[in-house]
Amino acid sequence: VNGDRVLTLAGQDVPVVGTARMYVCGITPYDTTHLGHASMFVWADVAARVLQTTGVDVAISRNITDVDDELLARAEAENVGWRSLAVQQTYRFERDMADLNVAKPTYEPKSFDYVADVLALAQILMGRGVAYEREGNVYFRAASTAERAGLSRDEALALAAERGGYPDDPLKDDPLDAVVWQRASEDEPGWPSPWGRGRPGWHAECTVMALATLGPGIDVHVGGADLAFPHHAVEAAQGEAALDVHPFARSWLRVGTVRVGGEKMAKSAGNLVMVQEVLDSSSPDAVRLMILDRPWSEPWEYSKEALADASARLEGLWRAAGRRDGDDAATDAAVDALLDDLDVPRALRIAEEAGGRTTRAVAGLLGLT
Ligand SMILES: [Zn+2]
Repeated sequence: VNGDRVLTLAGQDVPVVGTARMYVCGITPYDTTHLGHASMFVWADVAARVLQTTGVDVAISRNITDVDDELLARAEAENVGWRSLAVQQTYRFERDMADLNVAKPTYEPKSFDYVADVLALAQILMGRGVAYEREGNVYFRAASTAERAGLSRDEALALAAERGGYPDDPLKDDPLDAVVWQRASEDEPGWPSPWGRGRPGWHAECTVMALATLGPGIDVHVGGADLAFPHHAVEAAQGEAALDVHPFARSWLRVGTVRVGGEKMAKSAGNLVMVQEVLDSSSPDAVRLMILDRPWSEPWEYSKEALADASARLEGLWRAAGRRDGDDAATDAAVDALLDDLDVPRALRIAEEAGGRTTRAVAGLLGLT
């Protein structure tokens, strides 16, 4: 045990006793796996490897959101069953993660298996006076989540409209209130509830999957930077309001967005770059290095040149690893760099200069094989 070694994220120490519990906002299985997704999961993987150097075990819970508005819409558009679409896409996702040498999570909860827990959450929140029912929907009072996320009300409303918050829903007391449970229409999947046939809301799914697998007060919460609001803000506020354990997450690893041609990689922009497409022309190690050789929180631009640069850098790294030098002081300095806000660029510079076993140690922590 090395109590003197602590991971720092975004300027905050994350001391851990026993097991570090990491929750990773996973995929909605309908357009997997593009480089934007992959970037988040590779960073989560490295954070776990680095945490382990402090002498703690790491439990990772990475969910699959397989009951979701967008998944249902896609299944309908492609005229396939939503369950089979989800199973097929989940399989592809897991293959992509294995190809990128991302370790299997300890828990992989699927929304489909946690519907009863969302019902329990809705009832607890209503019992505590922070949620209300309207025509078969249950809403969480979420007006204060704007301030929590450091947003003005106007900014929050714009983001809610863009990212599945449905601020125009006339049944809500406040446009920022969030759906915990929603009435299901005839042609949608639904489960019985005290408020009629319905299905869970997206943020509530993550709240219960995190709590059910890891318990309250998780140590590191990972997700894309674009999920900060409303998803993470509501997910956390609901968990805190339900169980009175603050904070819901002790630290956040919100991974910067990947762009292509100056735009965020998104299905709607028509610019998705899929993991398998990139792996056709380069090694998994080069893809990982391209993702990791930068500050984790910053948005970045994918290009063929970026990939070629990473491949060249990788060759230099393996040449350095083959040298007969390297020393403990340099290895310690490289590990310290990684513990200091996952500073991969600094760790790589030390690894290239020291060579030998220092380089091999750093490569191992970055999951390069
Ligand atoms: Zn989530």
